[in-house]
Amino acid sequence: MKMFNDLLIGSSFEVGQDVAEQVLNPRTGGLIVEIPEASTAQVDRAVAAARKAFAGWSRTTPGERAAALLRIADRVEAEAGAFAALEALNCGKPIGAATNDEIPAIVDCYRFFAGAVRTQHGMLAGEYLAGHTSMVRRDAIGVVASIAPWNYPLMMMAWKLAPAIAGGNTVVFKPSEQTPLTALKMARILAEELPEGVVNVITGRGHSVGNYLINHPQVDMISLTGDVATGKKMLDAAAKSVKRTHLELGGKAPVIVFDDADVSEVVEGLRAFGYYNAGQDCTAACRIYAGKKVYDKLVADLSSAVSSIQLGNDDDSTNEIGPLISLRQRDRVASFVNRARELNHIEVTAGGELMDKGFYYRPTVIAGAQQQDEIVRREVFGPVVSITPFADADTAVEWANDSDYGLASSVWTRDVGRAMETAARLRYGCTWINTHFMLCNEMPHGGLKQSGYGKDMSSYSLEDYSVVRHIMVKHG
Ligand code: NAD
Repeated sequence: MKMFNDLLIGSSFEVGQDVAEQVLNPRTGGLIVEIPEASTAQVDRAVAAARKAFAGWSRTTPGERAAALLRIADRVEAEAGAFAALEALNCGKPIGAATNDEIPAIVDCYRFFAGAVRTQHGMLAGEYLAGHTSMVRRDAIGVVASIAPWNYPLMMMAWKLAPAIAGGNTVVFKPSEQTPLTALKMARILAEELPEGVVNVITGRGHSVGNYLINHPQVDMISLTGDVATGKKMLDAAAKSVKRTHLELGGKAPVIVFDDADVSEVVEGLRAFGYYNAGQDCTAACRIYAGKKVYDKLVADLSSAVSSIQLGNDDDSTNEIGPLISLRQRDRVASFVNRARELNHIEVTAGGELMDKGFYYRPTVIAGAQQQDEIVRREVFGPVVSITPFADADTAVEWANDSDYGLASSVWTRDVGRAMETAARLRYGCTWINTHFMLCNEMPHGGLKQSGYGKDMSSYSLEDYSVVRHIMVKHG
C-alpha cells in the first residue's frame, strides 16, 4: 500500500525534522510506519505559508472556491479504494465501513460546502439609519489552526477543511499523531488542487506540535475536535491573543427508551449505533435509560444481539467493528468496565473482556447501572453500553440532562407527542427520534455544555468559519 510521510508546507513536501512517532496497526499492535513530527521551524513556515496565501485566497469568488472543492471531492472519489484501505489499516476499521459509510460522506461533505458557499443568506441591505445604506458581509477570518482526533481521521479533516476553505480561510491542519496516514495522502491532492499555502498539513503530538501551533501569534482561529481537556487548553491558548475557537468535544449520549417503544427496533438500533467504530464516537448510543416495563426484555435481547457482533475475523468482509485505536485506549475501556463490575448492583451481561489479539475489546453491555455510577457519567469511548431503568418520564429527562456533556441524544417511543415533548426538554445539540447517529451534511452537528459549541457540517459551520461585518455608506 502506498504511503506518504511528508508534511505539506506551502507547496513543498518535506519530512518532519523532529522526533519520529510510531504509527501502529490496531488489529495487530504491529508497527506500520514511523512519521517524524514537524519542528517548530516547520510549524512557523506552515503558518507563514498560510498567512501569505490568505491575501489571495480570501479574495477569490465563492464560485472559484466551490470549483476547487468540487475537484477535491472528485479526486477523493476517484481514489476511494486507496483512501478506504489506508484508513482501515491505520484505524483498524472494517474495510466495508470505511468504503461504504465514510468515503461517500467525505466526498459529499466537500460537495455540500461547494454549493453552500454560493448560496448564503443574510440580512437585507437597506436604510436602517436615514441617509445611510447598511449591508452585511461575511468574510474570512484568517489562518485557522485545525486539529483533528483519531476516530474518523479523513472525515474530521473534511468537516474542518471544507467549510474553512470554502469561507476563504487558509489552514494549518494537524491530524492525530496516531492516525496521520490519510491526511498525508490527502495533502498530495490538496497541493494540486489549491493555490500554494491554502492548506498546509503538519504532523506531531498534541503537547509539542499542537501546543506550539495553537499558541502561534499568526494564527487567528483554533478549531479542535477532541477531548474536553484538550478543548480547555485551546481556550487558554486562545485567551492570550483572543483567537476565535471552534470546539467539538466529547459526548455521552443518553438514549431514552419509553415503555411503548418497539423493542426489536431499539435493539437493532443500539446494536448498530452503540458499537459502530467500536464505540469510538462522540455520539455513540452508550447511556440507555429504559422504562421499567421494557427494561428486562431490552437487557436480555440487547445482550444476545451484541454477542453476535462480528469483530476480529480474518475475513475482514465479515467484520462489523474493529479494535480500539491503541493499547492505552483498550486498557482504559477495560478499566472502566472492571470498576463498574465491582459494584454489587451492576451485571455485565455481554462482553466485558479483552481479546487476545491487537487492541480488541469485546462489545459489552452493563445492566443495572445507576445515575451516579462512573460508567453512566464518564465518556468511555469504547464498545460499552450501560442500561439504567427509570420509573417516569420526568426522571428519565432529568437523568439524561444530568451530564457535563451535551452533544447527542435519542428518544424511542411510538407516541409522536411524547417524542416531541421529550426532544424539546433535552439539552443536547442533536436529538434523534426512533433512530440515533444518522448524520447528513445539510444538518448541523455540534454540542452544548462541555461538548463544545462549534457546529460542523451545514451552513452553520460556514458561519462559524467566517465573520459578520457591517458596511455603511452615507448618501450624498
Ligand atoms: P485528544 O483531545 O487527545 O486529541 C485530539 C487532537 O488534539 C489530536 O490531534 C492531538 O494531538 C491534539 N492535542 C492534544 N493535546 C493538545 C494540546 N495540548 N495542544 C494542541 N493539540 C493537542 O482527543 P482524541 O483522543 O484524539 O479523540 C477522542 C476525543 O475526541 C473524545 O473525547 C471524543 O469524544 C472527541 N470527539 C469529538 C467529536 C465531536 O464531534 N464532538 C468527534 C470526534 C471525537
